[in-house]
Amino acid sequence: MTDAPGPVDRLADLFAGPGAGDYLGEAVTQAQHMCQAATLAEGAGAPDELVAAALLHDVGHFQGEVTGRDLMAGTDNRHSDTGAAWLTQWFPPGVTEPVRLHVAAKRYLCAVDPAYVGSLSPASLYTLGVQGGPMDDAQQRAFEAEAYHADAVSLRRWDDAAKDPGSPTPEFDHFRPLLSRLLSRQPG
Ligand code: FE
Repeated sequence: MTDAPGPVDRLADLFAGPGAGDYLGEAVTQAQHMCQAATLAEGAGAPDELVAAALLHDVGHFQGEVTGRDLMAGTDNRHSDTGAAWLTQWFPPGVTEPVRLHVAAKRYLCAVDPAYVGSLSPASLYTLGVQGGPMDDAQQRAFEAEAYHADAVSLRRWDDAAKDPGSPTPEFDHFRPLLSRLLSRQPG
């Protein structure tokens, strides 16, 4: 009997398989988009947890019964929740919480930063409506009370910038050492 693949290999398979598909109407694939977001996080000097969060922020599009395609058809697939919940089997809150909050961060930024709305891609603007639109005052206060809200906002800005087909982007393998490092710090 062979060993079951470890988390890094399972994630690599996701990037190579479903990740090779198009990213909700953007000019990059899902895998390119997530590797590009992680590269922006790395370039900004983010800690390992936050780089991993940027790399894995959209894995929820691959999980669950409602897919990214359904999201574009008008059904919220709640990919931030499903992705974060799935990642908790391996990763600490410093990774999973910014993932969980990255859609909320878009709704938050749309409420507090008028210039931000104009920076969104057409697809992201469309899904904003499906995801609940800009936050009202009470929702903004609740978001600001989340321990990882600032990390989620950083992740969100890398997410939005990570849709450039012309930007040189390392492959998933570039991030293997970082993921292994994070996993080795986990108890059990
Ligand atoms: Fe994204």
